[in-house]
This record gives sequence, structure tokens and C-alpha cells, in this order.
Amino acid sequence: MIPLDEYHTLGLPVSTSALFLPSEEEIPEIACSATYIIGEGSNILPLGNLPPILCTRAIKGYQILRESISEVEVEVAAGENWDAWVRFCIAHGWHGLENLAAIPGTVGAAVVQNIGAYGVELAPFLVKVRGWNKRLEAWQELPAHTCKLSYRHSIFQEKGWQDDFIITRVTLRLKKSFEPVLTYPDVRKRVDKVRSHDPWYLYQVIRAIRSEKLPAQGSAGSFFKNPILSEAELQRLQQQAPEIPFYSMPDGSFKVPAAWLIDRAGLKGYRIGDAEVYEKQPLVLVNRGKATPNEFLALAREVQRIVWERWGIRLEPEVRFLEAQKTA
Ligand SMILES: Cc1cc2nc3c(=O)[nH]c(=O)nc-3n(C[C@H](O)[C@H](O)[C@H](O)COP(=O)(O)OP(=O)(O)OC[C@H]3O[C@@H](n4cnc5c(N)ncnc54)[C@H](O)[C@@H]3O)c2cc1C
Repeated sequence: MIPLDEYHTLGLPVSTSALFLPSEEEIPEIACSATYIIGEGSNILPLGNLPPILCTRAIKGYQILRESISEVEVEVAAGENWDAWVRFCIAHGWHGLENLAAIPGTVGAAVVQNIGAYGVELAPFLVKVRGWNKRLEAWQELPAHTCKLSYRHSIFQEKGWQDDFIITRVTLRLKKSFEPVLTYPDVRKRVDKVRSHDPWYLYQVIRAIRSEKLPAQGSAGSFFKNPILSEAELQRLQQQAPEIPFYSMPDGSFKVPAAWLIDRAGLKGYRIGDAEVYEKQPLVLVNRGKATPNEFLALAREVQRIVWERWGIRLEPEVRFLEAQKTA
């Protein structure tokens, strides 16, 4: 068995029966031997010793496809580290991704999860995706509108695509002028307006905010998605807690912070074994040392149960659970 210590961020004592690190060219040959696809493992909960894994980290590189005075279209390999890519873009004068600074993981998985932070998400930058379709045994190029990106979701999480489509290249359209996005209150409060037109300054501000809120290691970031509610559901919740924060969504629904629901259910610092609801940010579950997959699973279920009993809301995990025995 191969230990997964360097291949996931929760620090669990888990391993895999085989680990493939193919180049893009080697994927057609190897894809069918692997059960799961991973990048850097920063959004997974491995639930034991796993069947064979294909890790995309060896798929590297980028090329400019198109360029004008105002925009650039760049194709970047799925295995590139996301934060290094954001830095590379800023250094080249390609803008838009600054608020997504310091999100762990790979470029390929950034599309799978439609990563987002501080008022920005990946979706508007995506032009197309290239990858290997295991079922069709063919390379495919999918334009952005077919990838169904929405809040922490894409087609690549759906049946028929998840673990069947290996993203190898991602094309992004970025701006050559920098317009800081300061819509998020935490960012607005921290930013010195005079300096806000320097992209590196904004990058550093975002990094600083993140490091205050997130544990340095032993987590997978936000463990649950923020629930999206209808107006009637929000009103029902407001009867229980009129002060509940919420954000209006463009489609008329409302997003409420899962962290608030967990906090107000009294779960900050709640612990099962070495798995803990993080004190500074209760949306994060953290490994306090020697947590096991079962402790994480039990904690996740307990948080869901207590939030359901307190608020009547089902929290959906943002983190993907990788079962030791994959069910079809
Ligand atoms: C401390 C911390 C902070 C975080 N903060 C944020 C945040 O602010 N915003 C946010 O959105 N996320 C955040 N995350 C979550 C995580 O960083 C992202 O989801 C990231 O995109 C995961 O990348 P990865 O390469 O580690 O993916 P993995 O965890 O390896 O995989 C995630 C999923 O994508 C699939 N996958 C991975 N690569 C491919 C591929 N090439 N083709 C097809 N499927 C693939 C996997 O099968 C799995 O389902 C955070 C995580 C941590 C640990």
C-alpha cells in the first residue's frame, strides 16, 4: 500500500493500492486502471485505504492561445498549482484571479469545484476544458457553457463525469487591466483604498485574511456548502433568528452562511476524538493530531444532525468523500 500523506490535506492515516502520476500523453493508457482522480487532495475525505488513484500533478505547462490589447486567453495544464498560477498571472499582468489567492489545490480541480472566495469565483473566466473521457475513450473539448458551473458545482461532480472525465487542460480568459473586487465586507474593511489598484497588494491582503481564519494544516477548507434557500425557507428561518445574515442570489434565492448556523447551534470547538469543529471558523473541520477517517465522518454527521435539529436545514458537504469501496 502507498501512504497518502503527501496526497491529501486532512493528515489521515490512509493509503492506496496504486498511485498513478501520468503525463497527459499517458492518460489514455492508464485511466481505466484508476478508480479515483485527485489533484492535491485538498478537498477530499479519504475514508480508509483507497482503490487505485490517478493524480494529475505531473500534468504541467501553459500556452497563450489568443491575445489582444485588453485580454488574453491562456490554456493551463490541470496539474499546475492554483496559487502559483494566480501569482504567475499577476506577474504577467493578467488579472481577475487575485481574490482567489492562496486557495490550495490544482488548476483542474478549481474547475471541478468552481472555486470561489471573497466575492469572486472561477466560472466567469472559464472558456473551455480539455480532458480524457474514459467512457468514450476519447479526448474531448467542452466549452464553458456545457460545464454547468454554479456555486461549488460543475458537471464534473455528476454521475457519468465524476472519475470518468479527467481534465487535463483549462482555458481561461483574463483581463490585462486590473479592477479590484472589493465587494466582500472583510476585504473592503482591510484594503487601503489608495493602494487597492496594486494587484500584489490585494493578493497579500487576501492571503493575510485567509491565514487568520484557516488552520495552517489538517483541514480541507470549508467542509460544508453554504445552504441556498427559497424566500419561504429564509422567512421560516428568520422567525427563529431574525438576525441571521443572508446574501441575495441573482436567481432570487438566498445564501445563508453555514458557519453561522453551526456556530449558533453551539458547535464551535465540538470534538470527536481528534476531529474538531475549528474555533476560529466553524465551517472548517480540523485534525487536531491523530484523527481517523471514522472520527471525521462521525463529526461531519453529528454537525449535520445537530444543525438539522436546531434549524431544519440539511448541510451538504463541500468536501468529497472517497469511499474505500467505490459504489457504482
Ligand atoms: C485550507 C484550505 C482552504 C480552502 N479554501 C477554499 C476557498 O477559499 N474556496 C474554495 O472554493 N475552495 C477552498 N478549498 C478547497 C480546495 O482548495 C479546492 O476545492 C481545490 O480546488 C481542490 O483542489 P485539489 O487539486 O486539491 O482537488 P482534490 O481535493 O484532489 O479533488 C477535488 C475533487 O476534484 C476532482 N478532481 C481533481 N482534479 C481533477 C481533474 N483534473 N479532472 C477531474 N476531476 C478532478 C476529484 O475527483 C475530487 O472530486 C480550501 C481547502 C483548504 C485545505
